[in-house]
Amino acid sequence: MSNKPNPINTIQEKLRSLFGRTQAASNKKPGAPLLNFWTVLIIFWGLVYLQQSFFAPKTETIPYSRFKQAMAEGSVDDILIGPEKIEGILKGVQGQKFVTVRVNDPGLAKEMDERKIQYSGRTENRFWGILLSWVLPLGFLFLIWRFTAKNMGGSGVMSFGKNKAKIFAESDTRVSFEDVAGIDEAREELEEVVDFLTTPEKFQKLGGRIPKGVLLVGPPGTGKTLLARAVAGEAKVPFFSINGSEFVEMFVGVGAARVRDLFSQAAAQAPCIIFIDELDALGKARGMNAMGGHDEREQTLNQLLVEMDGFDTNKGVIIMAATNRPEILDPALLRPGRLDRQVLVDRPDINGREAILKIHSRQVVLGDDVDLSKIAGRTPGFVGADLANIVNESALLAARSNKDMVEPSDFDEAIDRVIGGLQKKNRVMNAREKEIVAFHESGHAIVAESVAFADPVHKISILPRGIAALGYTQQQPTEDRYLMTRSELLDRLAVLLGGRVAEELVFNETSTGAQNDLQRATDIIRSMVAEYGMNEKIGLVSYDRPRTPMFLPQGYSSEKNYSEETAARMDEAVSLMMEEAHLRVKKILSDKRALLDKLAALLAIQETVRGEELRDMM
Ligand code: ADP
Ligand code: MG
Ligand code: ZN
Repeated sequence: MSNKPNPINTIQEKLRSLFGRTQAASNKKPGAPLLNFWTVLIIFWGLVYLQQSFFAPKTETIPYSRFKQAMAEGSVDDILIGPEKIEGILKGVQGQKFVTVRVNDPGLAKEMDERKIQYSGRTENRFWGILLSWVLPLGFLFLIWRFTAKNMGGSGVMSFGKNKAKIFAESDTRVSFEDVAGIDEAREELEEVVDFLTTPEKFQKLGGRIPKGVLLVGPPGTGKTLLARAVAGEAKVPFFSINGSEFVEMFVGVGAARVRDLFSQAAAQAPCIIFIDELDALGKARGMNAMGGHDEREQTLNQLLVEMDGFDTNKGVIIMAATNRPEILDPALLRPGRLDRQVLVDRPDINGREAILKIHSRQVVLGDDVDLSKIAGRTPGFVGADLANIVNESALLAARSNKDMVEPSDFDEAIDRVIGGLQKKNRVMNAREKEIVAFHESGHAIVAESVAFADPVHKISILPRGIAALGYTQQQPTEDRYLMTRSELLDRLAVLLGGRVAEELVFNETSTGAQNDLQRATDIIRSMVAEYGMNEKIGLVSYDRPRTPMFLPQGYSSEKNYSEETAARMDEAVSLMMEEAHLRVKKILSDKRALLDKLAALLAIQETVRGEELRDMM
């Protein structure tokens, strides 16, 4: 460096003092943002200003020709030749400093020697230049990014996948089976899971492997989340709960990292429960999205499958998941060794509803004349969440009119309010509809028990299940079937028609409730006629029926490969077979009319009837 006073030194000092101060400030609060956003902004502009004010005004930039001219006049001195610039002092003008851009001029040194001008070369010290022009803006951008990341709630660069805040384990959910009612079948199945967690040795003693996963399936509000928490509460194990949608992130790979994180945290705290609520958000079948799949979701789902396979249940981690749309889940999730146990969490029947009302009115001051069983009778189709809502609403209503206790009229009003909301969602039946559905389902059930080859009835219910069905008759297959005979198909057809025929017999009137039954019945007959060669008139021919290929968009179908005449003959054969089946079912149900009435009446009261009860009645 030259012995001249150098403005850069003063900048160095300024910078040192500036950074020194801010560092001291940040040392006081470890963990706080390094620099406040506005401080950074002000410092940055300050530096730019300093740079301008120190360099610009004191030196004059002159053309090279002028420099040569001045040299010829002998009015320059103290030349400093850098790689790009030449600096020096113009004599005469009070030692005005100048700078000129260096031009390739080999004779320069010689010329200066001749004129006895003092000169020296220098390598440019570009450190501060680099700092100002590169490092500072970059550092500045980095700080802005950190600042915004902080504001968005992220926890910094390194912990993207970690995000410990969201995956938290409740050490005690403070929920027990006492808090759950009306879904006894589901509860019984889950009591086994509690045993797995509390006394695993008992099951491992004989070499058995504890199941990995349980999937709770049922309509919204039936208590799936509650039940999962109750299992954790009963087993007194930590409860890791995460919502399926929380896995699906904006950044590819983050969801997968989160899954890994969840499982490694859980493994460290075993025995414990991992609960994935609303699994459908994450576990939609891969490749279902025609418009190019959701990469991130698929990656996350794959990671979940990998983790499920990878851990050992004997360490005591059990996965639970809940969904109200099991049909869209990826089949790989339901494979043995993953969520292989499925527990149906159904709408509660009348007794269940009374029990749920009892639970939720534990903290409520009820008047003596409030009859919870009556309220249960008035609320068919309501789920646990609706009932909890009713109790709460009526307590609020009573409080609003300054009563000392909740009276039946408060409940009436609360029910009306909730029903109003539910009617919009089509979930409440009126008395007439309830009667029709009771006869319809009784018809299915009685035909199923009367024909030779139908599966035995497991349960009849007039409570809606899923979105479309008003009630249902559940049959339980006694064995696996790979082939069906003609008689079996005809019996299945008869069961499907049972509902519609019962309506005809009893009300002399038909309803729209049988649409799905008729569709399935027609499907069976058409297959018998056109594919299985089971109709004498059409004969032993199997015509390819136009189908929608599974992996192509709807509406794409192959051409039919038979003539219009054949089509007409097949249509005729189909309606003839339907007619026969109709007559057969009509005969069965007319013969058992007394039983039909009895079963429908029982259904109207109980809402659900078990298969054994029906067989006892017969
Ligand atoms: P889901 O997860 O099936 O949608 P939740 O478990 O979230 O339903 O239920 C919501 C609330 O409704 C619960 O917190 C509870 O207060 C009440 N609830 C639902 N089902 C029941 C039930 N079977 N017994 C008692 N309370 C219930
Ligand atoms: Mg839930
Ligand atoms: Zn039906």
